[in-house]
Amino acid sequence: MFEFRKPIQIKEAVERVMKYRIEGESETISLRDCEGRYLAEDVIASHPVPPFNKAPYDGYAIRSEDTRNASLQNPVKFKVIDHIGAGQLSNRTVGQLEAVRIMTGAQMPEGADCVAMFEVTQDASEGDSLFFTIKRTLKKGENVGLKGSETSEGAVLVKKGSRINPGIKALLATFGYAYIKVARPPRVGLFATGTELLDVDEPLVPGKIRNSNAHMITAQIKRAGGIPIYLGKLVDDFDLCFQALQKAVDDVDFLITTGGVSVGDYDLMPEIYDKLGAKVLFNKIAMRPGSVTTVAALGKKLLFGLSGNPSACYVGFELFSRPIIQAAQYTDRPFTPKIEATLGTDFPKANPFTRFVRSYIDFDDGQVFVYPAGLDKSAVVTSLADTNALMILPGGTRGYEKGDKVEVLLLETLQGSSFIWE
Ligand code: AMP
Ligand code: MG
Repeated sequence: MFEFRKPIQIKEAVERVMKYRIEGESETISLRDCEGRYLAEDVIASHPVPPFNKAPYDGYAIRSEDTRNASLQNPVKFKVIDHIGAGQLSNRTVGQLEAVRIMTGAQMPEGADCVAMFEVTQDASEGDSLFFTIKRTLKKGENVGLKGSETSEGAVLVKKGSRINPGIKALLATFGYAYIKVARPPRVGLFATGTELLDVDEPLVPGKIRNSNAHMITAQIKRAGGIPIYLGKLVDDFDLCFQALQKAVDDVDFLITTGGVSVGDYDLMPEIYDKLGAKVLFNKIAMRPGSVTTVAALGKKLLFGLSGNPSACYVGFELFSRPIIQAAQYTDRPFTPKIEATLGTDFPKANPFTRFVRSYIDFDDGQVFVYPAGLDKSAVVTSLADTNALMILPGGTRGYEKGDKVEVLLLETLQGSSFIWE
């Protein structure tokens, strides 16, 4: 029986999905393992930085007032009374025309208020007594890293929801966060449906193909920051699929299936959603590929019915599953960034519906270029290898030419975007 499906716009579809945003749980992990995770708490400065007045260069800690009359004609002579490296403290107080030889990172001694770098001093030692001269004036505070000058205690330095990068890791270490609260990545269950599917280690036999979607989606889930839970492949049998989904749904935060969402005789997902009592948010989107991508909600839990066609499956995941997986980790930038790029080659095909061309971006001469990654058909798998971006060609446009400006979603940048579809 032919089923009529009413296509909705992409923006509307994304918004319907994002209404089911879950605030994921948090867990405490060691600083060692935290990169790439999302903060579940703000990073707060537990002390000022620098924590003490310190020397930012190697040189001599002196009193600036002692250089008041120093000039080329009038070198002023200082006596070195102590010598400290980073991590050492001087127990001397710097007096008039005295100096402490000080290395980068060491705490300023009492009495001194500036550091004369070695480069501005001339050695004037006499036997065992260390002296130097200076031929210029120094100001109070010159070459001193003042306590709290970088940040004061209590400052919020990184917001909850930020993805931990090497710099954030440095801050966490600076402020003594040996353990940190991060988002627990959502667990994303995955079934591949299709009687034709073989496992990767099985030989090809007539009529069958290897299940590539399971491996592709697993990698996409990881790229989105989720934990993939591959639950196996299912033959197109209603009871078997129904039971497998029903059993799996409680154990995961999101459940993805590939295949079986179209209107063919063995496309069982619509009926399965029905029997599960799930509410279908949409089952047709005005886009290519992936127009049959279906999303349903079972209570508060989302079920993603991605197409079995590899390219459609890939695009459906990036547009609808990725942002909600990201959003479960507190980020307010769950979307892939969108940029403008120059089309590097002609794309003569007309676009009756908004098209997401699997593409790659390249940089040349300060410009960003985008190229289709290969055959542009929803059943194609080979073009996915080069794909690191999706070129968006709006519905109702004719073919595009080399040099045209187009919008592109970046799939492999670490930085998210708060952008929602127009
Ligand atoms: P379906 O969405 O189930 O109608 O499948 C559409 C097309 O995608 C068919 O040609 C399937 O053989 C193919 N396909 C379905 N599932 C997979 C999969 N897991 N890996 C690769 N191709 C698939
Ligand atoms: Mg199928």
